[in-house]
Amino acid sequence: MRVLITGGAGFLGSHLCDRFLSEGHTVIAMDNLITGNTRNIAHLAGHERFKFVKHDVTNYIYIDGPIDAVLHFASPASPIDYLKYPIQTLKVGSLGTHNALGLALAKGARFLLASTSEVYGDPLEHPQRETYVGNVDAIGPRGVYDEAKRFAEAITMAYHRYHGLDTRIMRIFNTYGPRMRLDDGRVVPNFIGQALRREPLTIYGDGLQTRSFQYVSDLVEGAYRLLMSDYHEPVNIGTTYEYSIREFAEMINELTGNPAGVVFLEDMRIKGDPQTRRPDITRARTVLNWEPTVPILDGLKETIAYFKEVV
Ligand code: UDP
Repeated sequence: MRVLITGGAGFLGSHLCDRFLSEGHTVIAMDNLITGNTRNIAHLAGHERFKFVKHDVTNYIYIDGPIDAVLHFASPASPIDYLKYPIQTLKVGSLGTHNALGLALAKGARFLLASTSEVYGDPLEHPQRETYVGNVDAIGPRGVYDEAKRFAEAITMAYHRYHGLDTRIMRIFNTYGPRMRLDDGRVVPNFIGQALRREPLTIYGDGLQTRSFQYVSDLVEGAYRLLMSDYHEPVNIGTTYEYSIREFAEMINELTGNPAGVVFLEDMRIKGDPQTRRPDITRARTVLNWEPTVPILDGLKETIAYFKEVV
C-alpha cells in the first residue's frame, strides 16, 4: 500500500511511519511541524519507501499518484498544546479532516481517523463504552479539542454513509512512550522530566483523578489491525489498568529513584479535566482480536530511558 500519514512527524504518527514501512508499505508523512518534529523521523531520511512533506492539512492536500490508505493523525493533542493553538486545533479537526477525507475519496483510499477518549468529555459513564455519547463542555478550555474531534467523527461517518467511503474511527486513550515531547505538558513527560531533574512531581488538584496509560506499541498494533479490518463504528483503543495520578507519581518516583516527592498544585487543574478515564475495550477485543500487552513498568522503563537521552 501507499499510505499517507498526516501528523507523521508527531509522537504517534512517527511510530506509525515505522510500522507501515516495516510491513513493506510506502509511506508519505505530512506535518506542519507546529507540534511535530522532524527529529522523530530523522532516522527515516533516505529510506527509499519514505517521503516527508511539510504541509498544513487545513489547506487543500495535493498528492501525486495513487494512495491506498489515509491515516489522519494531525492535531495538537496535549491540553497545553491545544490551549496554545486553539484555532489550529479546531481547524485541523474540521477543515483538516474534511481535506483528508476528500483526498481519500478522490484516491479511492481507505481512511482511519485518530479520534480520542476526549469525545467522552468528563464522563458520567465508567468505564467508557463506544455507545456512550459523552459529557463535553463545548465552550470550556478543552472544548476546542473535544468538539473538533467530535466534528471529525461526524464528518467521517457522513463520508462513510453518504459517499460510501471505507472509513474507521479509533478513539485513542492516554498513550505514552518514546518521542513524546518533553515539554508537551502531559503528565507522563512532565513527571519523568521532573523526576530525572530530581524535582518534586507536580500533581494538579488532589491527584485522585484517574487515567489508564497504554504503551505506544500497543496503540500502533491497534491502529494497524483497525485499518486492516472492515469495521466502521468507533473503536476504543487503550488499556484497562487505571491509576490515580497520585499512584502514577509514586510509580515514577520509585522507578527513577527520585527523592523529591510530590507537590500539589490546586490551580493548575484545567476546568473540565476528566475525573476518571478508562476504556471498555470489549469491542476491540471482539472485532480486532486486540488487547494491550505491554506491562506499565516495562513501558515506563523504555520511556524513561528515552527521556534520559533528551533531558
Ligand atoms: N497532570 C498532573 N500534573 C502534570 C500534568 C498533568 O497532575 O504535571 C494531570 C492532569 O490534570 C490530568 C492528568 O494528569 O488530570 C492527565 O493529564 P494529561 O495532560 O497527561 O492528559 P489528559 O489525560 O488530561 O488529556
